[in-house]
Amino acid sequence: MAIRPFILEPNYDSFFDRARVGQPAQLRIRLKVTLIPLDPSTAWARSSHAAKRPGSPRGPLPPSHLAASEADFKRGSVVDAGGQPVPCRSWLVGEWREFTRRFKSIVETVWNNQMVFLPTENGDSLSDADFRQLIGDPRVPAHVAGVLEIDLQPPGADSHAIIEVAHLANPGATFRDRMTRITDESIQYGEHNFTAGRARGIGGKTGQFAAAHEVGHWLRNPGSKVFDHIDRSYARALPRAQRDNAQYGRTLGRYYSIMGGGTVVTEHDATPWLSRLRRQTPMQLGWMYVHRINFRRGPDDVSARQKMLLLAAGFMPKLLQPGQIP
Ligand SMILES: [Zn+2]
Repeated sequence: MAIRPFILEPNYDSFFDRARVGQPAQLRIRLKVTLIPLDPSTAWARSSHAAKRPGSPRGPLPPSHLAASEADFKRGSVVDAGGQPVPCRSWLVGEWREFTRRFKSIVETVWNNQMVFLPTENGDSLSDADFRQLIGDPRVPAHVAGVLEIDLQPPGADSHAIIEVAHLANPGATFRDRMTRITDESIQYGEHNFTAGRARGIGGKTGQFAAAHEVGHWLRNPGSKVFDHIDRSYARALPRAQRDNAQYGRTLGRYYSIMGGGTVVTEHDATPWLSRLRRQTPMQLGWMYVHRINFRRGPDDVSARQKMLLLAAGFMPKLLQPGQIP
């Protein structure tokens, strides 16, 4: 089986780009997102979240409103993920344009430049021709970089995700985000305290851009409604009072995860890319995730197979020290 160049599905699309000179191979997940400037004066906004969930049947789009000036503002309370009504107002046209631009840029910046996938070749393996597609630089071990692309779509388009965005009437008001409903402040950095380690005397602080976390919830498996928090399944087994804290990470290290309380792509966060790599390449199991800061990338870390392929292609002499045997 050759590497599949793309998979297009209702949960998200993915593309494999072979390595080119100076650029690593990439597995790009493309999420088509429609952002809706929520009209806060409607029954929809006051309802305890009737917004479109993944996989829900097609219905009307959430009500939207853009104001030309402050005199056109509509006002009302928008219910957050905790069921609390929070005072909101319409978006100004210019504010909305700036928000959508920053949303894409911040979500992509948070997720990208972190994920490296290595072919481990235990059990199953790539053909030489496929392996060569992973070599962008002869001195760097063959790998695939994981990339997230946010493809903003107009209302009514066939998107993977529809996200309502409320505009808070009072800056700094508390609003609990959800994958289907965020606010103008969800693209600001917010600090989070680690509390699940309190009983062990362990505390800590991190933070995240909520929009990047909520977008992560959309990177779900086919047939599933949500991509879960890093320790959701662990937390389910705990007493009810501890569940909410623990699902964001039972240890401080895990709490740093994007699908926890922070901004680091851990192996859990990389699951959507691993699952597409397994389907787009002939290797069912043989991919290993490493964070870019832990990626050893010197000529000494190049595998014997890569050296052999490069030698066959006439690359290796440049890499060898005088007298060194490949
Ligand atoms: Zn969440």
